[in-house]
Order: sequence, then structure tokens, then C-alpha cells
Amino acid sequence: MDEEDQLGHFRQQFHIPSHNSQEYIYFTGNSLGLQPKTTREFLETELKAWEDLAVEGHFEGSNPWFHYHKFTKELLARLVGAEPGEVVSMNNLTGNLHLLMVSFYRPTKERFKIIAEAGAFPSDQYMLETQIQYHGLDPSEALIELKPRPGSHTLETSDITTAIADAGPELALVMLSGVQYYSGQFFDIPTITQAGHDVGAIVGFDLAHAAGNVPLNLHDDGVDFATWCSYKYLNSGPGGVSGIFVHDRHGNNPHLPRFGGWWGHDESQRFKMEKGFIPMQGADGWQLSNVNVLSTAAHWAALEVHDMAGMENLRAKSIFLTGYLEFILNQINNNDFEVITPTDPEQRGCQLSLLFNTRGKEVFEELTAQGVVVDWREPNVIRLAPVPLYNSYSDVYQFGKLLEKALAKEAS
Ligand SMILES: *Cc1c(COP(=O)(O)O)cnc(C)c1O
Repeated sequence: MDEEDQLGHFRQQFHIPSHNSQEYIYFTGNSLGLQPKTTREFLETELKAWEDLAVEGHFEGSNPWFHYHKFTKELLARLVGAEPGEVVSMNNLTGNLHLLMVSFYRPTKERFKIIAEAGAFPSDQYMLETQIQYHGLDPSEALIELKPRPGSHTLETSDITTAIADAGPELALVMLSGVQYYSGQFFDIPTITQAGHDVGAIVGFDLAHAAGNVPLNLHDDGVDFATWCSYKYLNSGPGGVSGIFVHDRHGNNPHLPRFGGWWGHDESQRFKMEKGFIPMQGADGWQLSNVNVLSTAAHWAALEVHDMAGMENLRAKSIFLTGYLEFILNQINNNDFEVITPTDPEQRGCQLSLLFNTRGKEVFEELTAQGVVVDWREPNVIRLAPVPLYNSYSDVYQFGKLLEKALAKEAS
């Protein structure tokens, strides 16, 4: 499979960290994606522009910083299935969630509830809790958290749409992740979006684990808004710049409330320094500050690599690669763990999550000692993310051998 892999050569475009002069088996691209070899060049271009041009770099040089957020637009749009005007890279993920809530969570006396998944990523939980309180409401009344059925670790789409229908006219917002960080479940975005719209609610997604991992069609699916981070599957470096999507039916509505800043203000008037906020059309109208050029340079480098590979091709490989990992895990007879990620490839991205009954931490530590980089999520999950951009079928095979050994060692 590695020999026939059309994407196999992309591995050479990344720095693969090594351990005792052997490359790590790196299955943590869901937490921090590896560094493309072109990243340094992109950063150096902007460091050089700063060195040579200083403030003139805003309008001169090969990539004037005034326009810098525009250079990633087409790439982002293709990646998430949007029109270029519907996306922009800016800020960080949690900050963007809060900003988008200003526009898209507008509770009234009748319509104030939010549907989210129970056990959402902590930052999202804190965001929802504090947003609800900010509106003077009580999270225990306003927040509906969807839990898996007893004995299950993932949500049924029909349970999500039923909960939406049940909340009906009280429902202001559906705010879910695209791919759940813990279970690896890929939610049915079009069906959920339609169900939300059927009851008059807004539907937004946190795509931290979806962007660059699974194909997305945000525009056609009619999603109202979304945001993601770039340092996981998008390989743009620690704390890298986030991105937002605002559907053009909202993006071109200047009356939608929002928190303004000069970079969201009409760019032709920006330097007139006048009173009166006139938002840019599209997602750009949500920008606050001038571009984080260095972070965006790293993002641009990585997006070009993704674009060359193509999300459709990555997805096709990902289904095989994760399918192979699943096959190997099934070969390993054990009573220690179960895979809690859906078995249907359409309902997952590249990640598989292993829930351990016992000894999980010991197995994790043994794998780490053997040069495998996976991650541990309290209380008892190991997450494995074979990333189609740089992981190989051999990585998966070697991992299986090492896991088998680690399990045997812990049993003895
Ligand atoms: C990784 C992740 C975050 C992290 O948020 P930052 O603001 O980028 O630190 C938030 N939400 C989800 C769902 C995540 O997976």
C-alpha cells in the first residue's frame, strides 16, 4: 500500500521528529500537526521583509501585510467548502467562538436554549457557560447537553435531530463539534444543520478536529458559522492562527450585531480613522486586528501543502489508513481496551480512540518509551490519529507490533 500510495511522497515534505535516530511513529497530528519543510521559508520571507522594509512592508514587498489575510482565502475556501468571501484566518479558536457568539447567540425570552454535546472540549464548555451567564441566563436552564445512549460512546444522528425538534421554538443555537475530540465521531453536518433550521435555530460548528481531516461543504450545507484552529490537522504551528466561516447570507448583512475592530472596517476607509463602523462584506467584517503575519505565514505554507494533496485524496487515503489501523487493532486479542470511535468510516475522521478498562496509562507509557507518540486523555483513553498527509501504512503496522508488545509486557 505504501508503494502504491499517490500521497506517499508528501511525508518527505514534513519534519518527522526522531528518537534514538529512529523516526517516531507520530499519531498525534490531531493535537499538533507536524511542521512542513516550507514553513521556515515562508517565515523567513516575512522576517526579511520586516528587516528590509520595516513599516513599509505593509504595502510593499512580495506579500504586503495589509492584504496578508487574503493570501490564504482561496486555500481555506477549498478546504472547508466555502466561497472565498465566507472565510478568513484570524485570532485564536476560543476567541473566535466568543466573537461569533456575539452575532449568532441572540437569546430572547422565548428562544434562548443551546444544544451542545456533553463532554465537549473544555474550552467550548467554558465558552458556552460564560456566554450564557453573560446574557444573564442560567446554564443549567439554557444548555441542553446531548449524551450518548447508555452503553454507547457516540451520539445517534436521530437522537440529535430529535433533541433539536423537541427544543423547537425555545432553541436559539445548535453548537456542536464537527469531529468530536474525544470519541472521534464525525457528526452529520448537513442533517443537523437542516434540523436546526427547521425549528428556526442557528447552527454553528467547532471544526477544530474536522478542518483538514474530513471533507467539508459548509456553504452548501447551509451552516451558519464555524471556526477551527490551524495547529492540529492543518500543521500551522503551536497556537497558530484560527479561521472562521460565516455563511454569505449573514456575512453580507451589515445589521448583524458584532464586536468591531479596524480590520473589520471597510478597507477603503480604514486609514481615514473616522467614526462609524462600516463592516467589510463577508467573514472579513468580523476581523478585529491587523494580521498576525508570522503565524499566518506558517499557516499559508501548510495550506499550500494541503491544497497540493487535495482534501478528497487525503480523505480517500485516510479511510484506508484508519481502516487498516482498525483491522490491526481487531487482530490484537485483548480484554484491555475497546475502540469507541464509530466503525462506519463516514462517521469518523482519521482518529480512533481506545477506551481502556485497566492499565491504559501503563500501556501509554510503554508505547511512549518505544518511540510512539500518541496521546492520553483522562480518564482512560488513548487517541491515535494516523494522518494521511505524512503517516504511512508501515507506521500503522509497526504501531500494531509495539502495542501488542506493550500489552503483553503489562500483562506479565
Ligand atoms: C483544540 C481545541 C480547542 C482549543 O482552543 P484554542 O482556543 O485554540 O486554544 C478548542 N475546542 C476544540 C473542540 C478543540 O479541539
